[in-house]
Amino acid sequence: MEQTFIMIKPDGVQRGLVGEIISRFEKKGFTLKGLKLITVDQPFAEKHYADLSAKPFFRGLVEYIVSGPVCAMVWEGKNVVTTGRKIIGATNPAESAPGTIRGDFAIDIGRNVIHGSDAVESARKEIALWFPEGIAEWQSSLHSWIYE
Ligand code: UDP
Ligand code: MG
Repeated sequence: MEQTFIMIKPDGVQRGLVGEIISRFEKKGFTLKGLKLITVDQPFAEKHYADLSAKPFFRGLVEYIVSGPVCAMVWEGKNVVTTGRKIIGATNPAESAPGTIRGDFAIDIGRNVIHGSDAVESARKEIALWFPEGIAEWQSSLHSWIYE
């Protein structure tokens, strides 16, 4: 089954959005396979966002991610990478549809509350980076009520 890496950024944790965000993924039917509150350092944040290192906003982005604890999660389910990105909404909250997490809870692109992997391959890399200890081994007993 497909997995994705979802991270509630420091602003989302500070603003008390952890429960609301977890609830949206749970209610959709996805399964929580990993969860921790963690404050990362600058080299770690730079590694996570390595693909963006040439961007003008990179320094500010790294500063933002290390500014407080983040809630790192692994979610599992059919098409969870693509659907997770839809639940999160467009990168710039000015363009995220209402009903999406960024559309409902964010205004500025540099304070957009949440990260989600953009492809199955990047999800694999991000899960390995953030959860080197591994994730939970369990199957939801609701499976046959969610999948036909
Ligand atoms: N970002 C920013 N300014 C920009 C573009 C991106 O501050 O002009 C930040 C924003 O927090 C975004 C993150 O960099 O979520 C990673 O950018 P990416 O293009 O990967 O967007 P995402 O995958 O998070 O939607
Ligand atoms: Mg991205």
